[in-house]
Amino acid sequence: MSAQSQQSQQSQQSQQSQQSQQSQQSELSEQSDQYVAPYELQVLNPATEEVMATVPGATPEDVDTAVVRAAKAQSRWAALAPGERARLLRRFAVVVDEHLEELARLEVREAGHTLGNARWEAGNVRDLLDYAAGGVERLTGRQIPVPGGLDVTILEPLGVVGIIAPWNFPMPIAAWGTAPALAAGNAVILKPAEATPLTALRLAELALEAGLPEHLFQVLPGAGPVAGNALVEHPGVAKIVFTGSTTVGKQVLAKGSALLKRVTLELGGKSPNIVFADADIEAAAAAAPMSFLDNSGQDCCARTRILVQRSAYDRFLELLAPAIESVLVGDPADEQTQMGPLISRAQLERVRSYVAADAPGIRGKAPESPGFWFPPTVLTDVEPHARVAVEEVFGPVAVVLPFEDEADAIRLANDTSYGLSGSIWTRDVGRALRVSGAVRAGNLSVNSHSSVRYWTPFGGFKQSGIGRELGPDALAAFTETKNVFISTEGPAQ
Ligand code: NAD
Repeated sequence: MSAQSQQSQQSQQSQQSQQSQQSQQSELSEQSDQYVAPYELQVLNPATEEVMATVPGATPEDVDTAVVRAAKAQSRWAALAPGERARLLRRFAVVVDEHLEELARLEVREAGHTLGNARWEAGNVRDLLDYAAGGVERLTGRQIPVPGGLDVTILEPLGVVGIIAPWNFPMPIAAWGTAPALAAGNAVILKPAEATPLTALRLAELALEAGLPEHLFQVLPGAGPVAGNALVEHPGVAKIVFTGSTTVGKQVLAKGSALLKRVTLELGGKSPNIVFADADIEAAAAAAPMSFLDNSGQDCCARTRILVQRSAYDRFLELLAPAIESVLVGDPADEQTQMGPLISRAQLERVRSYVAADAPGIRGKAPESPGFWFPPTVLTDVEPHARVAVEEVFGPVAVVLPFEDEADAIRLANDTSYGLSGSIWTRDVGRALRVSGAVRAGNLSVNSHSSVRYWTPFGGFKQSGIGRELGPDALAAFTETKNVFISTEGPAQ
């Protein structure tokens, strides 16, 4: 084992017993041996299949080094006056805003996002930093009445936070964890997805330009089972914020729990879009396409199960068909484009595997040029338990299923292992409230498909995750509560 990783072990602040630390370290060193060779990540433009960059991948030793540096930076950061930390985060937001177009265009090229979406995503990073900065001086504990003294709670930072991000929204999801974690006094090590490290690396440069201390926010691109796993297993990392697939999320939770690590999971979804016959059917049909086609369907909140009351079913499909067929799919850098490519060939093959060529339904158009293109697709005549109706496709594919009445709609909506988002279209306020109370999902919208605002909480029920991000409690999720009792009775005699 290298001098660096030995030094890392000495600096671990974990409260685990010596014995469990040793066993963790020996597992870590086995992994280091396994991945000791340098390796690179290749970043492809998914709209052209051209290689746009190669980036060195982090090894477990790199993670060790980063944790040591982060721990040092964190103690200095937490000791700064709250107003100074807030000022630096606001400055970071300003610098992101000054580079908004550059970040957006980088996102278009590395992730295939449409320009409009990518601009929103870079703006979301800026807004998250601003919002979190506003929380630094408001991160207050409580004073609780007790006999014989004063009792106060103090919200202390956790230390070093590891953030593992997916490729589907590289910038916003990185910032969902990073902004509140920094604001609460922590250091952050971000591991972006293999396919999309470039915007994250640029954000780390902009943080330094804004004056954030060196090593407070580090970005370590790398393979999930290597760099991601090393973060999860590192005793010096106090919390893991994981966004990704349910399968990997469960592994992260299991490994993190061996160290009693704090773990937040934002996982997959198979969200319902419930359209009642009393709804504004024109509006519901007009809004349905982009509720699952946005970001080419690579959206954990995509409304991919369209449930329509039988009496409105034919009318809804009649309106939906032209709306799907007219979606503009193509060059994501073109301002007019509504949908770009999928992220990779592997994702394209995965999406194809769900849609038989002769499956009945509605299909839009997609380019035939190089790039990972799949047309907007809505499948009809699907069994409710068919693979495409229950699994997260993570592509521009939805199914339409009819239902009879309110009870049937709720049953179908909940007939999934996921519980992330959902929409309810109705003009009946009582029904909107009853159904939103009955659907087991973390983020619902009525007569709208909006799911994510940085100032409202976001997270999943069931297999869609554990914990909440964003919203008024975002900073508190990156703290430990310490209770202090101060006796007013004087020293014991
Ligand atoms: P993924 O689980 O394959 O990868 C996510 C991240 O985990 C990547 O950075 C990857 O490198 C890393 N990783 C992979 N194996 C790992 C391991 N063994 N240990 C530690 N880290 C590891 O998911 P993906 O394919 O990149 O993303 C798509 C999934 O993310 C979808 O299921 C989607 O629903 C979900 N997602 C959820 C949300 C949400 O907020 N709920 C948001 C976006 C995406």
